[in-house]
Amino acid sequence: MLFCPPPSNTLAVTIGGMEVSYAPSALGGAFCPDAGRFGDVDTLNPSQRSERMSRIRSENTKPELIVRRLVFSLGYRYRLHQRSLPGCPDLVFPGRRKVVFIHGCFWHQHSDPTCRIAHLPKTKEEFWSNKLGKNVERDHKTNEALKASGWSVLTIWECQTKDVVALAGTIKEFLEPSMGG
Ligand SMILES: [Zn+2]
Repeated sequence: MLFCPPPSNTLAVTIGGMEVSYAPSALGGAFCPDAGRFGDVDTLNPSQRSERMSRIRSENTKPELIVRRLVFSLGYRYRLHQRSLPGCPDLVFPGRRKVVFIHGCFWHQHSDPTCRIAHLPKTKEEFWSNKLGKNVERDHKTNEALKASGWSVLTIWECQTKDVVALAGTIKEFLEPSMGG
């Protein structure tokens, strides 16, 4: 069905003695044209199609693909977008009872002062702060609900995906704290 040819070249880096390879697409190269394509897309009416396309875009945004490939290359396996859990987490590790969210810094208002993506636009500032404030509130409630049922939550911010070496350390530490990072 959907198939991406293997990348012709990969970038290999060594993280804590372990070699990790990245496909060029994980580093901002070309997208696989088949990724996210649905065979039945033409049977949809325009509003269904637009709804589906926006869902595909929101589920296959680049930071998320970077994280998925990184987690996979570190040897961990996961489930995607488990809708039965609060907030429909991006990556779910059922055996470890851990979930990962990958958040866009603007839409989820990354509060780190060093984040350069999160700041609000000067025009319609009140509208945005209202709208995005609701996202932040929802994220907070989601985290609380997950923690209350025994899940550990890691939020990976879009700006963190620029430094995959540091990110690999963060992910390993979250998934296997006993290994000391
Ligand atoms: Zn950020």
